[in-house]
Amino acid sequence: MKIICIGRNYAAHIDELENERPKDPVVFLKPDTAILLKKQPFFIPEFSDNVHHEVEILVKINRIGKHIDHKFAHKYYDEIGLGIDFTARDLQSQLKEKGLPWEKAKAFDGSAVIGNFLPKNKFESVDNINFTLEKNGITVQKGNTALMLWKIDELIEYISKYFTLKIGDIIFTGTPAGVAKVAPEDKLTGYIEKTEIFSIKVK
Ligand code: ZN
Repeated sequence: MKIICIGRNYAAHIDELENERPKDPVVFLKPDTAILLKKQPFFIPEFSDNVHHEVEILVKINRIGKHIDHKFAHKYYDEIGLGIDFTARDLQSQLKEKGLPWEKAKAFDGSAVIGNFLPKNKFESVDNINFTLEKNGITVQKGNTALMLWKIDELIEYISKYFTLKIGDIIFTGTPAGVAKVAPEDKLTGYIEKTEIFSIKVK
């Protein structure tokens, strides 16, 4: 399986990092080795002094497809999840400055937290899902999929122009505002609406 991540999909997060608004979605990949194993803590890697949490809605692909029209994209997933795209922001800034790929900052071991999935039909619309991240019991990130610049079905259309989507692939759909540094002993808990989806400890 592969993990396809979208960057800069929420206007308020683009503003907080002083990035430009893209004409197309920003896309990058994480390998399967980036997945943080269930019940394991997240260890801050030694190569970064500024790892940020980015809480994101996840989409699990359930059919193989390429060149998927957004009108049919809803047939390619029936589960929605929540996760964290851990980002070594200091390293990412250096790489961005030099125009180099982001993988070392975004795709390192443990950088992809994948929480539980909920059936899509639990939601009235996938384009109106509230999600939050709490750090040590305090809400630090809050989003709603209605605020995405590219909605889930549009992302599937766009991604599948470049990459064949396969069963089990997971899309990280971008983070809302509120990204910040994590520290040892932080506890990060993610919710979709009122349902707890993951809880992890930082070491
Ligand atoms: Zn992200």
